[in-house]
Amino acid sequence: MPELRKDPIISRWVIISTERGKRPHDFVVEPEVVKGGFCPFCPGNEHTTPPEIMAYRDPWTAPNTPGWKVRVVSNKFPALVTEGELDRRGEGMYDLMNGIGAHEVIIENPDHRATLSTLSLPAFADVLYAYRDRILDLSRDPRFRYILIFKNQGRAAGASLEHSHSQLIGLPIVPELVQEELSGSLAHYRLKERCVFCDMIRQELQDRTRVVSENDFFVAICPFAPRSPFEIWILPKNHYSSYTDLSDAGFLKLAEIFSETLRRLDIALNRAPYNFILHTAPVRETQLDYYHWHFEIMPKLTLMAGFEWGSGFFINPTPPEDAARYLREIQLDAGAATAAVS
Ligand code: ZN
Ligand code: ZN
Repeated sequence: MPELRKDPIISRWVIISTERGKRPHDFVVEPEVVKGGFCPFCPGNEHTTPPEIMAYRDPWTAPNTPGWKVRVVSNKFPALVTEGELDRRGEGMYDLMNGIGAHEVIIENPDHRATLSTLSLPAFADVLYAYRDRILDLSRDPRFRYILIFKNQGRAAGASLEHSHSQLIGLPIVPELVQEELSGSLAHYRLKERCVFCDMIRQELQDRTRVVSENDFFVAICPFAPRSPFEIWILPKNHYSSYTDLSDAGFLKLAEIFSETLRRLDIALNRAPYNFILHTAPVRETQLDYYHWHFEIMPKLTLMAGFEWGSGFFINPTPPEDAARYLREIQLDAGAATAAVS
């Protein structure tokens, strides 16, 4: 019998088909081939992107020239623009404001063929540091209330350029989904005086049925009520509400578990496209006792259809207990791991 499961944080219901649980090879995934051709994100083509906002580069190299490790530029086709004052107004019963915001592209590595899962751990950590540094910088702008980091890997997941990159959008409002998480975790905190995410981590580490992997600082789990097959959350084991509070040692541990998780997904799902998002506390709301930052990774294996749009329910054909077991049992190539460290 299928099961209805409720997410403990935002009370979102999902339908899990426990009977005909789809296994990794039941999903038909055509791996994407690198097509090459002209790429504005490749070294040597820096002049074809908007000027760089930030870059980690070799000493003595000039901005907008080769020699960078991670490079951040404005999105050429931004969803929101940075210039101008924020203007909120009403039109009768309707509210609107002008489209102020930041829309940046984080070019993760100079190598056109690299993906996050093939990067060395130090190179992966550089990407994670870049997220932090951009959040810290944009948090100083009083017009922004939220900085959302996300990634679309693969065309089916929304990536328009094949060179691996993440994106950032700075928003004058806290997005609805984050607001739901904040309200849900605040309600739990008021009732129990505990963080709902900390409660979840404690229980998952005890049960272990949905744990994919862990290290000293982090745990990767398939959540109890996942929207998508093989959805994975990566959470710090200790309570932190802001991503930017992570220590340097923490970033290396995050790179380690994140890389491992993506490699497991790549193997299980034949390099399926995926999205991930970083959920952290809104800017200027630091050290919240009730909120806990995390990454949510969602492989793109199913389509959102009428029922999902109309109901807000997701239908997930793979129970997270099965997904976690498949992912745990994957033998990661020791050679690849060593190569990733060197
Ligand atoms: Zn490229
Ligand atoms: Zn917590």
